[in-house]
Amino acid sequence: MADPQISVPRVRFAPSPSGYLHIGGARTALFNWLWARKHGGSFVVRIEDTDQERSSLESVRAILESMKWLGMDWDEGPEVGGAHEPYFQSERKALYKAAADKLIAEGKAYRCYCTKEELDAQREALKAKDPKAQFRYPGTCRNRQDQPDLPYVVRFKTPSEGATVFDDLVFGKISTPNSQQQDFVLVRPNGLPLYNLAAVVDDHAMGINLVARGRDHIGNTPQQVMLYEALGYEVPRFAHLPMMLSAKGEKLSKRHASVSVSEYQDKGYTAAGVLNYLARFGWSSGDQEIFTVQELIDKFDWAQVGKSDGKFDQKKFADVAFEHLKQSELTSDAEYLDLVRPFLADAGISDPDPKILREALPLIRERAHDLKDAAHHLDFYFRQPPIFEEKATKKFLKPESAEYLRGFAAAISALDSWTAEALETAFKSYVEAQDVKMKVVAQPVRVALSGRSASPGLFEVMIVLGKDLSLQRLEEGALRAEEAQTTA
Ligand code: GLU
Repeated sequence: MADPQISVPRVRFAPSPSGYLHIGGARTALFNWLWARKHGGSFVVRIEDTDQERSSLESVRAILESMKWLGMDWDEGPEVGGAHEPYFQSERKALYKAAADKLIAEGKAYRCYCTKEELDAQREALKAKDPKAQFRYPGTCRNRQDQPDLPYVVRFKTPSEGATVFDDLVFGKISTPNSQQQDFVLVRPNGLPLYNLAAVVDDHAMGINLVARGRDHIGNTPQQVMLYEALGYEVPRFAHLPMMLSAKGEKLSKRHASVSVSEYQDKGYTAAGVLNYLARFGWSSGDQEIFTVQELIDKFDWAQVGKSDGKFDQKKFADVAFEHLKQSELTSDAEYLDLVRPFLADAGISDPDPKILREALPLIRERAHDLKDAAHHLDFYFRQPPIFEEKATKKFLKPESAEYLRGFAAAISALDSWTAEALETAFKSYVEAQDVKMKVVAQPVRVALSGRSASPGLFEVMIVLGKDLSLQRLEEGALRAEEAQTTA
């Protein structure tokens, strides 16, 4: 067996294209990708589309788009090609047929003409006798010599004695008595291979030396090991990954949470934030929670992948993603601005003043949990006039506020230096002179500047807006406040 610690990894991600990229699938892809990148190996993407009814090109595109967004580039596969083309199983049928024919010719597999109706009847009869019994194909066609012109499946001649053993990098040695296996089907009546045959033929042909996938496939692995041996192929190493479950312990689906990678992209998480959460799902490195992608590559190791299934934690996911937006070591200012632009554009702000954008960023980092949220927090800087929240406007832009807005505007218009300290001093002395509570002036000022009852510090906002725009908004706020009088 190839030792994954010694040989250069050739690993793969083999999605069935019947939907979007599920975050559980992305986690499987990630562990493979990290391992390949850590050791300068190859990461192969193969599309397992032999189930024609469920597969679609649209889904292939969606999965690949999400892979690209996450930054998990592949060395071989769709779009990039490679030495083992094609990378779509639907285009590799001849290889599976050749393998099935070889097994039949060597007496290791056989054609089975039993019909579905016959097998159903046998299953029912067994159930009537013993409701708990597990039906296994009884080998009716095992030694059949004739080849009638009837539809057939190809079955593997499973040895009845002994055990099939493999050593899993996560679960350790797994031994399954062969008596527990039936003569499983390799090829359907329409000539298309089933998953086990196609996966083995391809993993061998593509030189995969470590097969890492979800634990839901661990029950297929003994059958695959038998096939490797029967076909005379070297058996790769295996690593099965613990499952991602819902809070209730069910298989995670969209009933429980957002499960497609693209939903997290649309919401405005960074790819690195998503990868960070996914990497920590089943893998750990001491107490560290937050990792850059490079750190994940450097630190990932199978030795720290746990066996226990985990529960997907939406809140933790959001917290990890937020941390990536908060820390400029994880998302640089330039990256942040690039990332937030499309979200601003979605809100109708397609050409934000770059200076204001740059200066507002430090005020946003601490507050915005995702980029959609960031665009919301940034909105009022660019929208002239800002959108006025109804409740805040009614509450704080009252007729009597107009005087304070104009008075404060007058006090600061005389300032030589437009700094937070100077603004604060001016604000305090204005409030003292009026002999009112701070908030009596502060809240109308906040609403006039931002349209909102909550915003970053007033003086910081005024620095970002600049003197002219701040004064303009204070005056417009005063007009609005007066307006409230005339329509009241
Ligand atoms: N097409 C299978 C799936 O999507 C891949 C299983 C494997 O990695 O062997 O579950």
